[in-house]
Amino acid sequence: MPTPVGHSLAGYFVFSAIKKPERNFKWTELVAAVIIANLPDADFIPGMLAGNPNKFHHGITHSIGFAVIVGLLAGIVYFSIRKKHFFFYSAFFFLCYSSHLLLDYLGADTRAPFGEQLFWPISQIYVMSPVSVFSDVHKASDSSIFLQSLFNWHNFRTILIECAILIPMIGLLNFMKNKLKKSTTA
Ligand SMILES: [Zn+2]
Repeated sequence: MPTPVGHSLAGYFVFSAIKKPERNFKWTELVAAVIIANLPDADFIPGMLAGNPNKFHHGITHSIGFAVIVGLLAGIVYFSIRKKHFFFYSAFFFLCYSSHLLLDYLGADTRAPFGEQLFWPISQIYVMSPVSVFSDVHKASDSSIFLQSLFNWHNFRTILIECAILIPMIGLLNFMKNKLKKSTTA
């Protein structure tokens, strides 16, 4: 599983991909994209309260079914504030949430159950990519030492790999969008 740094970069990628050049930059949309791209890992919280942060990790919160639910709920919240573009924002939040599922699918997982319950509620099975693009996160299974266990050289290396892959992708995306914008306005 990638780190919050990787998931935040993926949220920023979705934000950059969706954003139309003629629209003003909206910090609220970027912040929402980053929060929702990290939201599936909120499944650590009930586990932490139960004494083992990994107890519920990579379960139903890491599924396409949950991504649909979160996308619709966040779309409703945004629509209640802005009074427009319900379907656009629901799709936007769905994609932000799904970016997390994709990164975790492509990430190494060295702890059973391996992978994530991607196809819940249709299937309960855990799936993961046969080839790992991202590294895993070393962490303790005991709530009392969980947070301090995250700070180690292995996890720092995991962050560097995520930055090396995702930052050039964001740069390339923005470069291509700018080029497209210039060619259409020329
Ligand atoms: Zn995750």
